[in-house]
Amino acid sequence: MADATQSLLAAGFVETVFHCPACGVSGMSLSRPAALLDRTCADCNEPVVTTVLDRFAR
Ligand SMILES: [Zn+2]
Repeated sequence: MADATQSLLAAGFVETVFHCPACGVSGMSLSRPAALLDRTCADCNEPVVTTVLDRFAR
């Protein structure tokens, strides 16, 4: 894992997988947990389904 990712995780970011049911866009991102509650798709602005990966959970 890259040092930058480690730093983000240490700062409280979580690794997430998002998927947009409306247009089918999906991907991974690092996000602050507080920012996950109201995420929308960058392409179509519809709400996206976000799953937090817990493999780095402490
Ligand atoms: Zn979309």
